[in-house]
Amino acid sequence: MNDNKKLVEELAGKIKTGEVQPWKTESVLLEEYRVNTPDHFQIAALSRRKCIEELTGQKFNYLELPDKPYLMQWCCPNDNSIWQLEARDADTTCTQCGSDLAPYGAESERYLPLVNNYIGGREEYYSSAGQIKVRGDIDKIFTNILAYGPGFGSIGISVGCFRINKLGGAEVKIGKWAGAARNLGYIFASEEERDKAVSVVKTSLPSLRKEMEEKYLSEFRGEIYEVEFVRRQHHGQYFIYICFYTRFENARGHGDTSRAVGFARGRLDDEFNSQGIAYIQSLIAMGFDGDLKPSSRNRRGRYVSAQVKVSIPAYEKMSKAGIDKLMSYMEIDRQGVMQEQGYFLYSGMGGEIIPALYRGTKVNPRPYNVSCTENVYVEINGDELIFGVELPNLEVGATSNREGPICPTAREVLKVMGIGTSKEFAAAAAAITLAGEFNFTLLHLRGEMYAGK
Ligand SMILES: [Zn+2]
Repeated sequence: MNDNKKLVEELAGKIKTGEVQPWKTESVLLEEYRVNTPDHFQIAALSRRKCIEELTGQKFNYLELPDKPYLMQWCCPNDNSIWQLEARDADTTCTQCGSDLAPYGAESERYLPLVNNYIGGREEYYSSAGQIKVRGDIDKIFTNILAYGPGFGSIGISVGCFRINKLGGAEVKIGKWAGAARNLGYIFASEEERDKAVSVVKTSLPSLRKEMEEKYLSEFRGEIYEVEFVRRQHHGQYFIYICFYTRFENARGHGDTSRAVGFARGRLDDEFNSQGIAYIQSLIAMGFDGDLKPSSRNRRGRYVSAQVKVSIPAYEKMSKAGIDKLMSYMEIDRQGVMQEQGYFLYSGMGGEIIPALYRGTKVNPRPYNVSCTENVYVEINGDELIFGVELPNLEVGATSNREGPICPTAREVLKVMGIGTSKEFAAAAAAITLAGEFNFTLLHLRGEMYAGK
């Protein structure tokens, strides 16, 4: 173990100086240090952890490193299917046919990494994914720790971050506020009754808004910035949607907004009753406020964008292709998304990149389908190329509270990454996404992505 300690220190130093690429630590241990498999997996993970601790000045206290952090291969003697199970997993039954699995492969080849660049974690496998420099609305270097399923991602992101850093870092623009929305609905038997109700609501609104803000939104300095009225009907039933839009500088505010609107409903019910306005039903009207529905009208979450500038000749050299090839690559993606899939705005691979950050940090929301909406853009300005990504609806409250408790492991990961506020979370999410897109685009243009042989 003392030998290992020295080894870990030596390797951590080499990773830090760039002498050993972090994802090559395992093979360096086997080939140059003659460490036996599968012992090298733990030493490699420890070395990467130590390097991160030294770079950030933070210590890992909660992110566990299990004794046997690797996969073992098994084979079903009945149907010949090959299985990869974590070493501590005692359930070695084939889920196809129920047979007992048998060890697969020679002793030196039986073991595989949990994920590339693994640094710890039991319920999630955490990968180190380099550092990214951001400037603009936030000036900071984030140390990326992501929780991926497949392993390739962390290397792709690491390489992308390296490229973006060399170009001066990601320039980020972050929305001042994160938006939330909750919608109140009323159903009436006639249009006349509905119109009477709308004027009562409009009269009550100034004092109602103030009360909602004081009682429910002030805790996180939230405010109602807009109230929208929309009329709809269904076979003799007349609806009114009263949608309350709120915004918060440093919180997500969705739960607080919902509670405030629930309070408004009680107040307006009383008001209608006292003024003799007959309504059939009052309710929180789902659907209209886009609750986790990816829509161009979605006003939830925070806008963030990240971009990088590079001279066109330098980009052509990097991509080994003319700039027109990049334009065609963007256009084929855009048409595929907008015309073929009919989606309003969602190009690129953010849906694969951004969840790795959410999974690792456990930051709200748990479902990702709105927050992972992304648009990749490319602009030409003189002899410069601007390559950027924008995330229009990133939902985030980087604390731990009743809106979404975050376990200490994930809070530690946030801290080691350098994320303290929801704006910093947004900056890191956009910069990591930019790094991934930038690198994957280069690989596609060079024909090196999914390259068959
Ligand atoms: Zn089987």
